[in-house]
Amino acid sequence: MLKIDNLHARVEGKEILKGLSLTVNPGEVHAIMGPNGAGKSTLGNVLSGRDGYEVTAGSVSFDGIDLLALEPEARAAAGVFLAFQYPVEIPGVNNTYFLRAALNAQRKARGEKELDSMQFLKLVREKLKVMQISDELLHRAVNEGFSGGEKKRNEIFQMAVLEPKLAILDETDSGLDIDALKQVAQGVNALRSPERSFLVITHYQRLLDYIEPDFVHVLAGGRIVESGDKTLALKLEEHGYAWVREHGEPAG
Ligand code: ADP
Ligand code: MG
Ligand code: MG
Repeated sequence: MLKIDNLHARVEGKEILKGLSLTVNPGEVHAIMGPNGAGKSTLGNVLSGRDGYEVTAGSVSFDGIDLLALEPEARAAAGVFLAFQYPVEIPGVNNTYFLRAALNAQRKARGEKELDSMQFLKLVREKLKVMQISDELLHRAVNEGFSGGEKKRNEIFQMAVLEPKLAILDETDSGLDIDALKQVAQGVNALRSPERSFLVITHYQRLLDYIEPDFVHVLAGGRIVESGDKTLALKLEEHGYAWVREHGEPAG
C-alpha cells in the first residue's frame, strides 16, 4: 500500500528527513515514535503534500502510484488522510456542511457521484454511531471554541466520514486527558479494517496502550533507526530514546 524508499526532505533549506524507508501493508497499524524534532511531523506533512516541504531524494509509492507527483487534494482523493489537516477554526461554517464539501470534493476527484444532503446525513448518522459521539459537534462551526479533546474527536470523526485508505495521526494524543484519549483510540480502533492502514505518530507510549500497533518504529535523525513490535514502545518508555542510539543503528 505505502512504500517509502530513501526519502530525503528539506524544510526551509534544512534537511530533516535523511533517507527514511518504510513499508506499510493494508490493514497494518504502524506507530512512529521518536524524540522531539526528529522529523515525525515532517514525515506526515511530506506524505500529505503540505506546502514548504521539499523532497530532494527518494520515492513514495501509494497503491502503486507516485504519491509525490500528486497535488495535496489528489492525495486526499487517493485516500490519504492527515489528522490536523483541518485544524483551523472556520467561524460561521457549519461542521456538517464543511465535511460534506470535503467528502464531495474527494468523490468528484475520484469520478464518483456526489452525495446529496439526505445521503450525507445517513452516512453521518452511521458514523456517529460507530464512533460513539454525540451529534452536538456537528451543529457547531468548524472547530470554533472546541476544546482540545473536541478538536481531536472531530478529526477522528472527519476521518470516519472520509474513509481514507491511509490515515496519518500526528500526536493525536497530545493534550488529551485519559477519557478523551480512550475515546479517540476507540474511534480509531472502530475504523481499523483489512483495507485501511494507519501511521500513528506519537511521542508517548500511552496512546499505544489503547491503539495496539502491529509495528513500532523509532524515527531519529531523519531516519527509521529501529523497528519492532509493540514491545519496542515499552522499552522506549522505560529506557528513553538514548537507549535506541546505543542499541540501534546510528542515526543520521
Ligand atoms: P517532530 O514532529 O519529530 O517533533 P518536526 O518534523 O516537527 O519534528 O521537526 C523536525 C525539524 O524540522 C525540527 O528541527 C524543526 O525545527 C524543523 N522544522 C519543521 N517544520 C519547520 C518549518 N515549517 N520551518 C522551519 N523548520 C521546521
Ligand atoms: Mg514535536
Ligand atoms: Mg511533531
